[in-house]
Amino acid sequence: MAKKDYYEVLGVGRNATADELKKAYRKLALQYHPDRNPGDKEAEEKFKEAAEAYDVLSNSEKKAKYDQFGHAAFEGGAGGYGGGMDMNDIFSHFGDIFGDLFGGGGGFGGFGGFGGSASGRRARTTNRGSNLRIKVKLTLEEIDKGAEKKIKVAKYVPCKTCSGSGARNNSMETCSHCHGSGVVTEVRRTILGQMQTQSVCPQCGGQGQIIKDKCPDCNGEGIVRSEEIININIPAGVTDGMQLSMQGKGNAAARGGVPGDLIVLIEEIPHENFERQETNLYYNAFITFSQAAMGASIEIPTLTGKVKVKIDAGTPSGKVIRLKGKGLPEVNGYRRGDLLVSLNVWVPKSLSREEKEILTKLDKQPNFQPTPSKQERGFFDKMKDLFN
Ligand SMILES: [Zn+2]
Ligand SMILES: [Zn+2]
Repeated sequence: MAKKDYYEVLGVGRNATADELKKAYRKLALQYHPDRNPGDKEAEEKFKEAAEAYDVLSNSEKKAKYDQFGHAAFEGGAGGYGGGMDMNDIFSHFGDIFGDLFGGGGGFGGFGGFGGSASGRRARTTNRGSNLRIKVKLTLEEIDKGAEKKIKVAKYVPCKTCSGSGARNNSMETCSHCHGSGVVTEVRRTILGQMQTQSVCPQCGGQGQIIKDKCPDCNGEGIVRSEEIININIPAGVTDGMQLSMQGKGNAAARGGVPGDLIVLIEEIPHENFERQETNLYYNAFITFSQAAMGASIEIPTLTGKVKVKIDAGTPSGKVIRLKGKGLPEVNGYRRGDLLVSLNVWVPKSLSREEKEILTKLDKQPNFQPTPSKQERGFFDKMKDLFN
């Protein structure tokens, strides 16, 4: 079967930059990642195909050969890419890519391999605890100032009995298969030179050590279920759906590895007064006809208490006033949004006989006859006002 062009595999042009190549590969790696497509052979093939293409195109020497000779550059020699790359190769070469994608530092449960370390050449495999996800609900007032939340989290913590080693009375033994290195190395010859392949030691799962006698309290896992109260500092200005990552606050890893992260998902509680759009807030104020006609001073709620606002005489219904800086702060920024107040003239739902008499009289007065300016007739200008 003819092999697909590497550029085509990654979906990039022949003069793609290193950055574009990396981006394209990340996208495919994420899409076809075996953790996301368990048991899907086709996805696995695509995953390998993308890794192979990236392996060549991200290496200037190999890329130059490929650009000149195409796939022929890697054929004939022993090894090459005849059988495609194997999974351990992929994770050991591109661990940093996956690390970036999934929050850093982590390998993949399914492979327990080399993921995470930038070089991918770490000798012994370190277990990594899984990430923990929690949701935190915040009011706009809390978002305005930033908040500190104490949250009780159910999670895995290191077993106290064995100090997280999983071994009873520290009964560890060096793995005889890998002699404690955690990896087995295979050297292959290709036309590009010798290629070293490392894979996780199947005997000890990359630990380098084997437990002789399991700790009874954690059944050799080194971790137990528990609860912890975690202090979470939430910066001002966060938005609904935002995720904060607290490194090392997730589940403890089996047998003394690196703990996972705590991912905090922000949920905004809808406010009774305000609508939020990024850093701006919107408020619907209702005023009487007299206030609109004669001018007035009215109170407007803000997130930090009421403020007095002056309304000019002759204010048209629907006019928007902007209270500078009374919106929300930017997250990690210095700018503050505004509070936009829409002034709506309240129209009574029913009238008494006396009220009707007064209104009928007023209605005949010359000043009460509508004489809208060109601007007031323009519906769209007003809408634009509202949204910037
Ligand atoms: Zn234990
Ligand atoms: Zn071993």
